[in-house]
Amino acid sequence: MSWFTDVILPIPLANTFTYEITEEQASLLKPGFRVAVPFGKNKVYTGLVYKVHQIQPERYEAKPVDQILDDTPLVTGQQLRHWEWISEYYMCTLGEVFRAAIPPALLLESETLVVRRDDYSGNESALKDDEWLVYEALQHQSVLKVQEVSSIIDRKHVLPVLKRLIDKGVIHVQEEVYEQYKPKLVRYIRLKKEYEADEVLAGLLDELGRAPKQKEALLHLFQLSAGGALVTVKKLKEASGINSSVIKTLIDKEILEDYHLKQDRIQHEGQEEKDSKQLNPYQEKALVSIREQFEEKDVVLLHGVTASGKTEVYVKLIEEALERGEQVLYLLPEIALTTQLISRLKDYFGEKVGVYHSRYSVNERVEIWGHILDAGEKARVVLGARSAMLLPFSNLGLVIVDEEHEVSFKQFDPAPRYHARDAAIVLGMQHGAKVLLGSATPSLETYYNAGTGKYGLAEITRRHGDVLMPDIELVDIKDKYRKKRMQGHFSDRLLEEMQECLEEKGQIILFQNRRGFAPILECNTCGHAPQCPNCDVSLTYHKYKNQLRCHYCGYHMAMQLSCLACGSSETDTKGFGTEQVEVELKELFPDHQIGRMDSDTTRGKHGHEKIITKFEQREFDILIGTQMVTKGLDFANVKLVGVLQADSLLNYPDFRAHERTYQLLQQVAGRAGRSKERGKVIIQTYDPLHQILQQTSMNQYHDMVGDQLNERRLFHYPPFYRLIKIVFRGRDYNRVNEGSEWYAKGLRNSFKGTGVEVLGPEFPPVSRIRNQYHKHIIVKIPQKAGLKQVKARLKKIGNSYEAIANFRNVRIIFNVDNY
Ligand code: ADP
Ligand code: ZN
Ligand code: ZN
Repeated sequence: MSWFTDVILPIPLANTFTYEITEEQASLLKPGFRVAVPFGKNKVYTGLVYKVHQIQPERYEAKPVDQILDDTPLVTGQQLRHWEWISEYYMCTLGEVFRAAIPPALLLESETLVVRRDDYSGNESALKDDEWLVYEALQHQSVLKVQEVSSIIDRKHVLPVLKRLIDKGVIHVQEEVYEQYKPKLVRYIRLKKEYEADEVLAGLLDELGRAPKQKEALLHLFQLSAGGALVTVKKLKEASGINSSVIKTLIDKEILEDYHLKQDRIQHEGQEEKDSKQLNPYQEKALVSIREQFEEKDVVLLHGVTASGKTEVYVKLIEEALERGEQVLYLLPEIALTTQLISRLKDYFGEKVGVYHSRYSVNERVEIWGHILDAGEKARVVLGARSAMLLPFSNLGLVIVDEEHEVSFKQFDPAPRYHARDAAIVLGMQHGAKVLLGSATPSLETYYNAGTGKYGLAEITRRHGDVLMPDIELVDIKDKYRKKRMQGHFSDRLLEEMQECLEEKGQIILFQNRRGFAPILECNTCGHAPQCPNCDVSLTYHKYKNQLRCHYCGYHMAMQLSCLACGSSETDTKGFGTEQVEVELKELFPDHQIGRMDSDTTRGKHGHEKIITKFEQREFDILIGTQMVTKGLDFANVKLVGVLQADSLLNYPDFRAHERTYQLLQQVAGRAGRSKERGKVIIQTYDPLHQILQQTSMNQYHDMVGDQLNERRLFHYPPFYRLIKIVFRGRDYNRVNEGSEWYAKGLRNSFKGTGVEVLGPEFPPVSRIRNQYHKHIIVKIPQKAGLKQVKARLKKIGNSYEAIANFRNVRIIFNVDNY
């Protein structure tokens, strides 16, 4: 009987692929091992063993596995179970989850090699110039990488050349798998065992009397290694001022020996861990209540107003979990994952904290993976953004999802399109862990679940230190414009408050939800506004770069001085972004330093940190920014927060727009007056009577939830109905229309009389992105309809759809629980 293994490949085709293995391999391989396997004509992939069995595949002949890449599983059984849930619930393949979960450095890259054919006997002079260059290079070196070919012929697109060379029989190509990740090794030095005894050592030092440098090196080494400390070669050189050749001589004489140890790239200075804070009575009460509810419930919501000290409550729960020897997962939205929070947790938990962050290098991520898999002391507490819940936990006891209302927990593109909060809850259940969701403004879904008793609920209604909640004032800018009380985009009220705050040496945060200078540049003569050639949007004017840029695809062009349509030189900007606010601020407050935080100023790994640190150290008084300034920042000295224009948030075409506006404004308002005095917040708007703004200004979270839930119930939205969005995407406008219409018709037929509603197809507000047209169908699913059955039908119609040749170039994408 032959043996087989089902392997997950990092591609969106099927869930698993079957390969043949020898009996010996079968005895070694276990689920979670990586293997290199051939795929297609000449590709090699890193796959993950899912199952080992003896069932011959029916429809094809299984190819053999090339190579086994691990000797212990890289992925745990529990992880695989969780991935299966994700793939099933979010309608994607296991391979897509695999690819999202594994740090790229562990997914061996398959790379094409160009190899010389020794049997080539053709005529050299028949080769074209570029072909000859490659041929010539291959005379010196029998194998070239594609990048090397590219630099030899000084061209990016080398495939046509390679194709010709293959046709002429000069070369053939081959795929090579190579390990990318190399742990960083550090060279250490120590005395050889023979010399450790005191008398031997004394003799040695005597002997070295004539080689003072060598003697000195040894003396320094003793000093450094006192108490059993390990000494690196680098440290010894630094401390003794002795050069490498002296050390080499000592090694050659076999007095010293060197050795290498793996060094973690993410280092934390070995400082003492601090004790956590004594909780105030409100925090204490919440903590006790959470503990009690965990006795019966798996998930508890901590609803605590901004600056109520939720983090300190988490810290207590983490301490308890660590005492029980469990692992902890602490999830945060990407932009709230700041150095402020990281260092706060590292103060308490030192090396036990591991940070998993997309801004970290692939190698750093590999190291964290290893620590979690080992389930040792390091990375016991994993702090990370959404993908951290895909890590190899084996002993998870507590999951914290902070800012659980954040929409960025939902992965948008590519698959798997999971919601990290919801997937983390399932992860928690699979591990028998407790899950705490935290927010000052919980999502309607979560609050509803707490209301029905599915989740527990604990509350903190006061800020730490009994600081009052900020005083929020709405300013009617329609009125202010009419009365000529605006300077640029600043009302007299906002300016007065800013003056006062600056006089009292307070700091200010300003929020505007757009970056760049202005979203639209318009010709005064003909009305033309430059558009992106690839997308259906206007180009945003960026003043510092003097460019027009597309925020969807990155297209950019130099700023135009005259209209591209009519040549007129009179152009105007419409709308405004953070750059423009910054320019105005510099004129209005010439004596104050101003900082800007948006995705243009925070590129690179430490971009955020630099700005936040400068603000913390009061290098500037006013910080203007996009959403980035609203999340999780804790500055003691911010007394005033200004929102320049709240209206665009409210008018966003999405059924969650109102809920989100409330959350965002409360979050940004929450940055004001966190430590001592009551903070002030000014929200500028054209519509100060808007119910959501009224509720925001009066902190009426419960009223907001009540109203919004009524609307959701009435119009069949979550949490009462589930939504699946189906996206059709393709370059051909007509095909996208036809495909989506065909599919929608199929759905309507299939769901007749089931209570499932089918909306669309409709074009979204931006219907073309990167030259691809998008069209959406929304499926609304009532509780009674059964999500599983609905998904099965969607897939079934999807399979028929994919069999239709006409629609081949229109991709169909399912987005479950669309956000
Ligand atoms: P939240 O996450 O609820 O917005 P934080 O946990 O950031 O609030 O707490 C707000 C501020 O209050 C922080 O600077 C924190 O250090 C401080 N703080 C919270 N609880 C305590 C406490 N029990 N003792 C001392 N300081 C506290
Ligand atoms: Zn014009
Ligand atoms: Zn574009």
